[in-house]
Amino acid sequence: MSLDGAVADLRRRLLAAGVLAELGEPGVFGLGGAFTRVFDAVDALYVAAFAHLRADVWRFPPVEPRSLFERTDYVASFPQLTGSIGVFAGGAAEHAELLRVRAEDGRWEDLLVPGGLMMGPAACHPLYAVIGGTLPVGGRNYDVLGSCFRHEPSPDPMRLQSFRMHEFVHAGTAASATAHRDEALPRLAAMLGSLGLEVADVPANDPFFGRTGKILASNQRHQALKFELVTPVYGDDAPPVAIASANYHEDHFGTAFGIFDAEGGVARTACVGLGMERTVLALFARHGMTTSEWPEPVRSVLWPHG
Ligand code: ATP
Ligand code: ZN
Repeated sequence: MSLDGAVADLRRRLLAAGVLAELGEPGVFGLGGAFTRVFDAVDALYVAAFAHLRADVWRFPPVEPRSLFERTDYVASFPQLTGSIGVFAGGAAEHAELLRVRAEDGRWEDLLVPGGLMMGPAACHPLYAVIGGTLPVGGRNYDVLGSCFRHEPSPDPMRLQSFRMHEFVHAGTAASATAHRDEALPRLAAMLGSLGLEVADVPANDPFFGRTGKILASNQRHQALKFELVTPVYGDDAPPVAIASANYHEDHFGTAFGIFDAEGGVARTACVGLGMERTVLALFARHGMTTSEWPEPVRSVLWPHG
């Protein structure tokens, strides 16, 4: 089967089984009960696997103030993925105009204006705004689970426009941040292996935009800053899918948000992020659409109490 055929086949089976429900735009799905039950079990396992980090828990809304978005520099590198919230800020005349455009099946949303909020593209970004200041000796760990928006519409159910990422972030020194990244990957690979997923650890880069983006991506690979855990989803001939990534940001966020290590140097940060929807869907692709028929060893890891 071609890759397009395999993608269409997985999407069709997920929809037919009610794991996902179509909402009318690519990459935006309703998530059914079976999906949710697997999601919660995977998330609990993941938290247990990193309990030794004694991470501070933070949760953030799916939108970010524009000022925070600016400080991450995201739009400079990833304009193609960026989304902004449009709001209605007019009066009666503007409302009348909106209703007229709408009655003609026009794009009334063109009459909305930027509302000062951006869709958050990565779970960890707001964290850097709340941890600004000086870190304790040894640095600190954080647990962040949040919704991410990325404008990358695709028929592939593994590539969503809105998805959740659960990240364990470390802020400290270069040594403690790279150690966090390097220790997290094998631990996470072992957890995913216990669920029957075949994973490999590969060097990776972010999808930087445009011609300069190519240079940034190649630097990121050469400096071995980012690694992904990939798993085959569409057969052995198709490219494997990244379900997790571990990233060393150097001083990018430390500088932008004024975070310092215990010695007063600019903090270095790193995070390991599990793509939650991708992981759950990779399990359905691997073991089938009916969780009661999944292999017993996998079921007992996910649901030790039945
Ligand atoms: P890709 O190379 O697949 O576009 P990425 O390098 O942009 O992914 P990261 O920014 O490293 O992804 O995001 C961390 C994790 O979040 C990924 O490993 C993946 O599991 C998940 N993820 C990223 N983009 C998407 C998406 N569009 N849909 C679902 N999950 C995603
Ligand atoms: Zn992160």
